[in-house]
Amino acid sequence: MTIPSRWSVPIPRCSLQQWIFGSACGPLPDHKAFIDPENPETKFLTMSNYRLLAKRVALGLKKAGLKEGDRVLIFSNNNLFFPSIFLGVLMAGGIVTGANPGFVPRELAYQLKDSESSFLFVAEHAIKTAFEAAAEVGLPRDNIFVLGTNTTPSASMLAQSPTAFPGVKGRVDGARHWTELLVDNLAQAETWSWEEPSNPEETTCCLNYSSGTTGVPKGVEISHHSYVANGVGVGHINRLRPDYAEKQKTDCGLCFLPLYHAYGQTYFIANLPHLHIPVYVMPAFDFAKMLAHIQRFRITLLSVVPPIVVLLAKHPLTRKFDLSSIETIGSGAAPLTREVCEEVERLLSGPGRELYVRQGWGMTEVTCTSMSWDPTTTAGPSAGVGEVYPNCKARLMALDGSKTEITRANERGELWVTGPTLMRRYWRKPEATAETIVVDADGTRWLKTGDVAFVEEYRPGGIFHVVDRVKELIKVKGNQVAPAELEGILLENPDVADAAVVGVTMGGEEVPRAYVVRSPKSRASEGGVARWMEGKVSRYKQLKGGVAFVDAIPKNPSGKILRKQLRERAQKEVGDS
Ligand code: AMP
Repeated sequence: MTIPSRWSVPIPRCSLQQWIFGSACGPLPDHKAFIDPENPETKFLTMSNYRLLAKRVALGLKKAGLKEGDRVLIFSNNNLFFPSIFLGVLMAGGIVTGANPGFVPRELAYQLKDSESSFLFVAEHAIKTAFEAAAEVGLPRDNIFVLGTNTTPSASMLAQSPTAFPGVKGRVDGARHWTELLVDNLAQAETWSWEEPSNPEETTCCLNYSSGTTGVPKGVEISHHSYVANGVGVGHINRLRPDYAEKQKTDCGLCFLPLYHAYGQTYFIANLPHLHIPVYVMPAFDFAKMLAHIQRFRITLLSVVPPIVVLLAKHPLTRKFDLSSIETIGSGAAPLTREVCEEVERLLSGPGRELYVRQGWGMTEVTCTSMSWDPTTTAGPSAGVGEVYPNCKARLMALDGSKTEITRANERGELWVTGPTLMRRYWRKPEATAETIVVDADGTRWLKTGDVAFVEEYRPGGIFHVVDRVKELIKVKGNQVAPAELEGILLENPDVADAAVVGVTMGGEEVPRAYVVRSPKSRASEGGVARWMEGKVSRYKQLKGGVAFVDAIPKNPSGKILRKQLRERAQKEVGDS
């Protein structure tokens, strides 16, 4: 028994770039696809600019030696060119992997090495980190391209003009400015077509990193077909909106979610451009600017993570802006309480206007989304994450390890999902893949999500609620924190004999907390160990839940950390009651 989606929607068999642009050379609508909200009149890319710039990146990369299947790492905050670089890599037959621009050198080096990336695009502000990481893994400076922000000419100019890049410096500390990569021959780029993959189901387009249910971050191999399938689902749901034809004319999105993560990446690089919806691109999240941009540009589609919904509910600035253009607020990537949603709904609804904050559920391993709301639903507020996504299926498995399936409403089980959006595998990690994907007798591949859920009604269209996790993963403001990674680093400290890291909810937010067994004779303090970690990982991974010394880490007879026990302990010691 499973719960299939109510929607079966055809998925074109093509590359992601083909799906977004329709063709390599054919006409495109001339609206602005990406706009800099600080300079909307001068800095933008039309759809044709987007495609042409991507083709120039593709040709440049091929010339620089990129071969089919080579990985290219993008280490940058958001900017107008990120999507073109992403698509350019795909057009050249490569695979994109995006890294958090806040990473410290060791984190970046890990991803560079694990993915064996042969090219690196880096934002100007992160050059130092990039050089250090590149030196560690032996990536030559010649293969590093710098995305200068201060020296950036207007986007449309960059897309159209072969040579006019005012202010662009040549080399930046030995690395090339990324515009040096672009082929100058515009006529060649205009007429060039990429080669379509013969098997889009088995051609990987990106490796988004995720720790999944256990262990360290792994490259999640997403095929072109899965990426397209995810977008087809978004498009289907978008078109279900009442008065879609009218709404489509004024739709626009605001991108502050990071483009290296599946959520922002799939939505803003692929789905909205495919739907011909303009996107205002912010370099990163800034609450006051977000509100100002919503008001100024009459943003209609808002995609957020829970801490932003909390800010909307609680921050006095929310009341100072006209946010009446917002049609939909979608939240995902982490849990969100019903109370907070209701506060925002009360604030933003008005006479004749009922706005719901709708949660979706997803995972990097399913490209992005597997549960979302039917926009025609007029049922009132719910803490649910919606119903099974187009073309997908879900099931709930008993939590007692009996491998039996739950077929009753309102009973909790581990959520398993399947469908065309499911990853191919973890990059070069067959064991982790086998642990995470179960193959049924009929050959269906099921993703064990590690999330605990129930369904309100056991039928297609039933609303799911995600209520807990049985996996190790910690989510800090929607960002993944893998306990195994932090434990590995803690064990490098000579004062630490053993360690376990768990998530604890403090002030409504999940943060990592470490339990540490001190080495014999160590005189380190708990605070000292927390401080020692500071320089070793990005800010969001730091031990904000503190460090506590213990005599022993609780483990089962086979040595597996009893995380549930530690999580309960942490919650009692320092968590919200
Ligand atoms: P990521 O792969 O970074 O997108 O993280 C996926 C994980 O985020 C899921 O397995 C859940 O644990 C969590 N998650 C995503 N969406 C939700 C949601 N709406 N409610 C609760 N947890 C969520």
